[in-house]
Amino acid sequence: MMNSIIFALMKIFLTFDYELFFGKQSGTVAKCMLEPTADLFKLAKGKDVAYTFFIDVGYLIQADRYPELFDEVTKVKSQIKEMINLGHDVQLHIHPHWEKARFTEGAWEMNTRNAYRLSVFDSEDRLAIVKSYKLYLEALIGREVISFRAGGWCIQPFSELRDVFKEVGLKIDSSVFHNGYLITNDYNVDFRRAPLKSKYKFEMNVCEEVKDGSFTEYQIASFRYRPSFYWMLYGLGKVLPSKHKMIGDGEFISQGGNKFLSLTGYTTTHVSTDGYYAKKLDAGLNKAEHLEHNEIIIIGHPKGNTTYSMNKLNKFIVNNHKKHTFTSFVKES
Ligand SMILES: [Zn+2]
Repeated sequence: MMNSIIFALMKIFLTFDYELFFGKQSGTVAKCMLEPTADLFKLAKGKDVAYTFFIDVGYLIQADRYPELFDEVTKVKSQIKEMINLGHDVQLHIHPHWEKARFTEGAWEMNTRNAYRLSVFDSEDRLAIVKSYKLYLEALIGREVISFRAGGWCIQPFSELRDVFKEVGLKIDSSVFHNGYLITNDYNVDFRRAPLKSKYKFEMNVCEEVKDGSFTEYQIASFRYRPSFYWMLYGLGKVLPSKHKMIGDGEFISQGGNKFLSLTGYTTTHVSTDGYYAKKLDAGLNKAEHLEHNEIIIIGHPKGNTTYSMNKLNKFIVNNHKKHTFTSFVKES
């Protein structure tokens, strides 16, 4: 009799934040959302691969107000419906600074100051934003939404969002990444105390496991990147733009001195499909296997696709789709 080969099946969540840029230039819907997402659809086709798209609903709500944006926002809405029709998952992503955004002279004017995180709004506004954005998305896709990713991962302090989550029926968060730390004028992220687990229950504090907590955290997988990785990342975009330039045509919001830190010492950030980060998809999966995690949550952004990253992601899917399951929140709930 043959010994049966036992190997742990990993649940792989490929999650994409579907959004424009929030720096000086938002970029175009065609290059940041529509085209790169259509490219992602192609990679998944015929392979039983479900992605999760976290939809930046604030954009839709604001864009609805401007007749000149009718065509582009109609295309975005129809692509979101296509996600559902293709078997992908659609969940809630909130960048509350859309509340203060205005479209003037053909461009978005973003004002992130005192608006980048839900925690800077008062409790009434927090509830109104989360509730209305969630209802908007549910009306668009025709089903309930239970998972959340905070814009810029700014989910803290969760004690200020707990009652909102309860009231609107959000049960899952996927904003935390172990050892993540990013404090700037806009960001307020400190996940250094988060458990080294892919999934855990919590109640008042997203970084503290509570066995019978009301909510489940699906942590985004994190990875320790060496400085040489970033020298390559920043250098290749300049030297080999055809392979390494992101399709998204906007500008990132400033992350303070983060670039300098990443070039001079080890830093922790996500396992990601974005640009050069896709180099570490296999290493990220190996780390999750080594830690004996049952799932790995990988983050990406359609706007962050490069020729290089799509090639790497394609290989990652081809090599793993028979060994592991590419699943989503709606499939697991
Ligand atoms: Zn986002």
